[in-house]
Amino acid sequence: MSDLSTARARVHAMLSDPDGLVTRELDARLDELLAAATAELESFRALELGDPDGRVSAACGDPSHPTWLRAKGDGRGCPWCRIAELEKLTPASIQTCTECGAGYTLGEACSVCEYRKWIAAEKGTTQ
Ligand SMILES: [Zn+2]
Ligand SMILES: [Zn+2]
Repeated sequence: MSDLSTARARVHAMLSDPDGLVTRELDARLDELLAAATAELESFRALELGDPDGRVSAACGDPSHPTWLRAKGDGRGCPWCRIAELEKLTPASIQTCTECGAGYTLGEACSVCEYRKWIAAEKGTTQ
């Protein structure tokens, strides 16, 4: 942008324009062109037709997964699919007790087994 400012300043200096009318008109026209070019660039970026740093956009078959940018040599698949895979691998919060077969919450003791242990302990103390 500083190059642009320098170029503008040079053009302004070359103009014989004491009232600044031509300068103002020129600046307005330049701003218009710049805005149009910026808008065009933005629309290209929105379409994800590529990236100036050499990355390419990629998308998987699932329309609910956003496109992502990856380096040209990067063969990794869709990160959103990967997240879904990992979520499936995450153990369900309700586990089945291997001892009594009852369901219990992951990270907690099986309440049926706990109850049986408690009963057994009670019987042990009363006998
Ligand atoms: Zn995906
Ligand atoms: Zn149990």
